[in-house]
Amino acid sequence: MAAVNMNQEMFEKAILGDKPVLVDFWAPWCTYCRRISDAYDRIAQKYEGRILVTKINIDEEPALAQQEGIEIIPTLVLYHKGMTLGSVINPESESAIDEFISGTLSMEQKQKAVHVHDMIIIGGGPGGYTAALYAARSGLDAIVLEKLSAGGQMAQTHQIDNYPGFEDGVDGYELGQKMLRQAQRFGAQTAYAEVTRVDLMAEPKVIETSEGVYYGKAVVIATGAGPRELGVEGEKELVGRGVAYCAACDGMFFKGKTVAVVGGGNSAAADALLLSRIAERVIVIHRRDTLRATKVYHEPLMQAENVEFRWDSVVTALEHEDKLTGVRLKNVKSGEESSLEVDGLFVSVGRKPNTQLFDGQVELTAGGYIAAGEDTRTNIPGVYAVGDVREKQLRQIVTAVADGAVAVHMAEEYLAGK
Ligand SMILES: Cc1cc2nc3c(=O)[nH]c(=O)nc-3n(C[C@H](O)[C@H](O)[C@H](O)COP(=O)(O)OP(=O)(O)OC[C@H]3O[C@@H](n4cnc5c(N)ncnc54)[C@H](O)[C@@H]3O)c2cc1C
Repeated sequence: MAAVNMNQEMFEKAILGDKPVLVDFWAPWCTYCRRISDAYDRIAQKYEGRILVTKINIDEEPALAQQEGIEIIPTLVLYHKGMTLGSVINPESESAIDEFISGTLSMEQKQKAVHVHDMIIIGGGPGGYTAALYAARSGLDAIVLEKLSAGGQMAQTHQIDNYPGFEDGVDGYELGQKMLRQAQRFGAQTAYAEVTRVDLMAEPKVIETSEGVYYGKAVVIATGAGPRELGVEGEKELVGRGVAYCAACDGMFFKGKTVAVVGGGNSAAADALLLSRIAERVIVIHRRDTLRATKVYHEPLMQAENVEFRWDSVVTALEHEDKLTGVRLKNVKSGEESSLEVDGLFVSVGRKPNTQLFDGQVELTAGGYIAAGEDTRTNIPGVYAVGDVREKQLRQIVTAVADGAVAVHMAEEYLAGK
């Protein structure tokens, strides 16, 4: 079957149909158009039943040629369901026409298979789920990618007393579940997957995970922070064999035993207090001569009968066989060294941001946090950083949720402009 000649009316109808339509814009005076016409007819036979292969004489349909932006002939254009899929000018051979058709159609298939979300939120802590809530309520197609469970760091604590709206405090895990369900109520999706690689400069942005690849027009980074390590030899190997970073999670393994807590901030003080109710003896090791923690912790800690302090001291080595048996301490003022027998060591020396994935793409501060201000915008258009992962003064649930709302506000402007 030879290629079908079409006029404007036939063209308008054909391109809206289910079958792709190939149009050869030609003219009788064009010698090259005449040369390819045999090959074109063979293409019509080859694709018979799959695509409609047609011709339009631009001398007879000048308005249509102008409407379709035809400036050189022959130009072959492939249409499908009212959309222009692609075009090729002066194809040099029959196989070039064939390649154009098959390449363009397979690209269309791929694009159909790939779902591009309006917003991908990496991390399902309070910052991530607030972004998901605001995005979903704004009608955006948003998905949270979370590697473990909703709630992030706060899910590790039983009691949160400083998040407004809960006069008796709230369990952190339960608060995380509430945030998840609230975002879900408005259509936000969650995929439990660990993000392993990102390409944030691509359009759409590409997020590779343990469960497959996701594509998004905008990305909110809400990966939070994790515990900072002490950095002494053998620390990593002894995790789970005496070394721990979460008293609320691992404290019960040391019931009736002797534990040390390293650090002097709020989390070290909270850990020491919690452990004082579980362990027989708790030794707080701090490199200064007073706690940095807020005053509310001082009195109960000083009064606890089983809590002792090693001021001006740092851990220089871990003593162990199969499990941790003790720590070597150095007094930073006198230089004196000593050994302390302990069954467990809780490291509570601060947090470090989860930004390794973004290093080299998103601008980071010297401390490794994402360089983004209160508007949460990063150096990459369409990429926002919220919560503990962002450079900021106060890392708490209230500041993480505030960031989540701001990021969506900024992203909406970005998406509207695209
Ligand atoms: C024990 C403890 C008690 C606390 N108590 C309080 C309190 O009482 N009040 C208060 O205001 N704050 C408290 N905080 C701090 C508070 O929890 C954090 O400030 C807050 O959770 C930060 O939220 P976020 O959304 O930025 O990140 P996070 O809560 O850290 O959440 C980040 C999420 O990202 C996920 N993630 C990370 N990397 C990936 C990846 N590659 N792929 C997929 N997912 C990933 C993590 O699994 C996590 O769920 C506490 C923190 C801890 C550890």
